[in-house]
Amino acid sequence: MKKQNKPIYVTQPAMPPLDEFTEYLKKIWQNKILTNNGPLHQQLEQELAEYLGVKYISLFSNGTLALVTALQALRITGEVITTPYSFVATTHSLWWNNIKPVFADIEPNTFNLDPEKVEAAITPQTTAIMPVHVYGNPCNLDALQQIADTYGLKLIYDAAHAFGVKVNGNSVLNYGDLSILSFHATKVFNTIEGGAIICPDEKTKKRIDFLKNFGFAGETTVIEPGINAKMNELQSAYGLLQLKYVDDNIAKRKTIADIYRKNLIGIKGLRFLNDIEGVTHSYSYFPILIDSKEYAMTRDGLYEELKSNNIFGRRYFFPLISQFPSYKGLPSAQADNLPVAEGITKQVICLPIYPDLTMDEQMNVCDIIKANQRT
Ligand SMILES: *Cc1c(COP(=O)(O)O)cnc(C)c1O
Repeated sequence: MKKQNKPIYVTQPAMPPLDEFTEYLKKIWQNKILTNNGPLHQQLEQELAEYLGVKYISLFSNGTLALVTALQALRITGEVITTPYSFVATTHSLWWNNIKPVFADIEPNTFNLDPEKVEAAITPQTTAIMPVHVYGNPCNLDALQQIADTYGLKLIYDAAHAFGVKVNGNSVLNYGDLSILSFHATKVFNTIEGGAIICPDEKTKKRIDFLKNFGFAGETTVIEPGINAKMNELQSAYGLLQLKYVDDNIAKRKTIADIYRKNLIGIKGLRFLNDIEGVTHSYSYFPILIDSKEYAMTRDGLYEELKSNNIFGRRYFFPLISQFPSYKGLPSAQADNLPVAEGITKQVICLPIYPDLTMDEQMNVCDIIKANQRT
């Protein structure tokens, strides 16, 4: 086993060539338009809608404000059913809207919200469901839509991990009432910080555009208390360049995922997710699950072992959102309500995956995992 001298992190942003970015900066310096739906912002909205295969997209300064605004746009109140197995921002967006989060358990094979558990959690106060396409694996789209239709609920997808993900050729972002994306530096497509809401009609897009700009619907008309969540021209320029390279970057991620699968298959007590038939994946994460009854170490043991070898995986998602102090008192946050999520969160490590990860580096990760297996 070779010594890993240079630290490897779970992700590293793919950055466009600097000289291409400076060309855009020159344009911006000439235009002197820095934000407020500038020309590059408009161009990025157009190009992204085309690339993703969606009707309308509204760009945001980050994904969290996109989530907060999506709930505002649909006037969601009361209770919203959501997953404990996600990044905290999913539930925080409810808190910022004075909405009570209700956690439902996840499926053991996709780690996404379990539609049966969602249905069981509905009360007269429920107004919406907020699922997450965890690691970019699509939720049970039809079942969730059917529940939303039956009970008259809105369906807002946190699709922060699902950039470019398609189901039978159709973007996963076209499902539900709204979807949100994050373009944070750690995501497959990044604008340093950034995000978006995807919506199916022009009227909703207009309302979202008002809301992200203080509620301004004209020079002197403010329709309601909006927020400031606009993407600026520098982020937009960076995004236009990212878009040129994103297919290449996703292809590199796929190669890395394939190599992990080839090298880690058959290790006792180690499980990973495979591609799903009919789904176009974007390989945003590579989670493995460690069952310490069969593998020679606990999850945390392996996590520390990797760390001591300069390899920094991440325990996404640990702890569960339902275990954070702000939420752990909720009745739905109790462990007996979330047995599957409680199990997965104790087993997961996300391994490094990003376009510039070298084959040697990747083999070092695999070698450490293999060296510690039970024989
Ligand atoms: C990254 C992420 C967010 C938050 O996006 P930001 O752009 O960082 O604000 C929300 N939900 C999920 C599931 C995420 O992974």
